Amino acid sequence: MIELPEAIVISKQINETLIGKSIKSAIRGQNPHRFAFIGEYSDEEFSSLLKGKKITESKSNGNIILIQLDRDYFLSLGCGGERILYHKHDKTIPPKHQLLLEFTDQTYMTVTISGWGEVRLIASNKIDKHPHIQFNKIDPLSEEFTFNIFNELLQKISNKKKCSVKKFFISEPGLKGIGNGVIQDIFFLSKIHPKREIKSLKKEELKLLYDTTRNELSKMVKLGGRDCERDIFNNYGRYPRIMHSKSVGTPCPVCTTSIKKQQYLGGAIYFCPSCQVLEE
Ligand SMILES: [Zn+2]
Repeated sequence: MIELPEAIVISKQINETLIGKSIKSAIRGQNPHRFAFIGEYSDEEFSSLLKGKKITESKSNGNIILIQLDRDYFLSLGCGGERILYHKHDKTIPPKHQLLLEFTDQTYMTVTISGWGEVRLIASNKIDKHPHIQFNKIDPLSEEFTFNIFNELLQKISNKKKCSVKKFFISEPGLKGIGNGVIQDIFFLSKIHPKREIKSLKKEELKLLYDTTRNELSKMVKLGGRDCERDIFNNYGRYPRIMHSKSVGTPCPVCTTSIKKQQYLGGAIYFCPSCQVLEE
């Protein structure tokens, strides 16, 4: 799944590779996908709106990649399990895809969705208020996200309400672009169990969690994304994940206790029961 680091990496590559290219044709509906979110335009409208448009800019917003087409529209990708690929020739175009852009210089871009994902067109004048874009969440890599702001977000949670660390990071309030993937190593390296009540964290624990969040996300971006996700040139990211499905049952790199997996809040959590103690 594309999360904050991959959206930044892919956006940057699109800026370096696709700016100025003109769209000769755009095909979205070749392989309809149940969980491809396409927004308000039909496939036919989509094709005719994109034809002749030029790619002018790409930027990321959390786990969303926004590709500007002239000044009129944004193509919104990301937020799910998309593979977004650039092709120098048609030989590498995958047989099944949910988007195929052909450029006038005979190069291509495809999007193939696994799980869910999106290929949505949004008019530029609607982008600022579009419900799909998480304007209300804070970007954990932004300058705005200081340790003080992190504490302020915590203070806003009612004392009566339960809120685990995982819930805080991914949904309430949630940090922009953060999903069930990047949190696994962040929590492990912070020595915090994903189910712990965030209000039970001591000041030192919160500081370590905050610093680790910033450091690991920056490292993920610097290394071209996590090693489970690919970039537009079909290369895997180089950030070596510690906690993931294949580490279950293997010894913890710190203390050698066997790594555990549990289902929690709509996705698996991977943790070391000795390093990440669940205190109630
Ligand atoms: Zn351990």
